Amino acid sequence: MLKLALEHFPPSLILGIIFGLYFEERGLIIIALLTGWLIDIDHILDYFKAWKTNAFSKEALEGISSGKYFLVNSKAYIVLHAWEWIIIWFLGWSIIGRLDVGLTGATAWAIHLFIDHLSYKLHWYAYFITYRLLKGFDLRVVCKH
Ligand SMILES: [Zn+2]
Repeated sequence: MLKLALEHFPPSLILGIIFGLYFEERGLIIIALLTGWLIDIDHILDYFKAWKTNAFSKEALEGISSGKYFLVNSKAYIVLHAWEWIIIWFLGWSIIGRLDVGLTGATAWAIHLFIDHLSYKLHWYAYFITYRLLKGFDLRVVCKH
């Protein structure tokens, strides 16, 4: 659980500080943490779906950090893990004149997804939510094993 919580915190914080100093806006640190660190909150949906099905004993899930809930569901929703949201985030904030928020959030979010790709055995297209949606969020679309 500690790895899950911490692997994205330092890069997000550093990025937030750099962008915050560059744009002279301290709030960008919060933006970087929201988009680069806290998007893992979406694992809760997958975890509770497995917990609710009770297909395996709840102990077999071994907590949210084990990732075993993905196997129980045979699905991977992880709805915030998607390149499409990064583009929408960047365009949305830029259109309303907040390039600083758009750039900070998009960069932190992209770094999160890159780190996940380096840390786990994912298909290169795993984090395109439109593709996962078309494939019914099948776990095999995300993971190589
Ligand atoms: Zn992640």
